[in-house]
Amino acid sequence: MLRKPAAAVSSREIQSSNTRQLIDDMIETMKEYDGVGLAADQVHVSKQIAVLEVADNPRYPHKAQIPLTVLINPEISPVGDELEEDWEGCLSIPDLRGMVPRHRSIEVHALDRMGVPMEFVATGFHARVIQHEWDHLNGKVYLDRMRDLSTLSFLTEFARYWLVK
Ligand SMILES: [Zn+2]
Repeated sequence: MLRKPAAAVSSREIQSSNTRQLIDDMIETMKEYDGVGLAADQVHVSKQIAVLEVADNPRYPHKAQIPLTVLINPEISPVGDELEEDWEGCLSIPDLRGMVPRHRSIEVHALDRMGVPMEFVATGFHARVIQHEWDHLNGKVYLDRMRDLSTLSFLTEFARYWLVK
């Protein structure tokens, strides 16, 4: 499921109670596992839907907050060519972290959960979370984006060896 590009969601589907329920379930699952984002294919539904939120998150302390956002059929394009490396983990690849290069700034076009078009520019960790979820919707995981697997670490070792630097 994680390797399959997800299907676009039609405007009729967006209005359906199934889709509304799916989005509510995704938000609940993301919060339950202290995720900062979740793509529908992570809950075994191959649809172009992602949710994200950063509040006070124990898995990602000290990150800027991101309001709860639902992205349907998102498209992203880089703003500038600056890349940034930082740690990522994934609820679908438990207990691991690795350093992943991402565009520092991206422009995002998507529909919200009501089907209303939105566009915005995201930067830093916000842009990273969206690129991570966008990858899920396109059959990729963060391991595919790593330049160097030597930073791939178990969470327990990440806390012990990388955080002390
Ligand atoms: Zn993930």
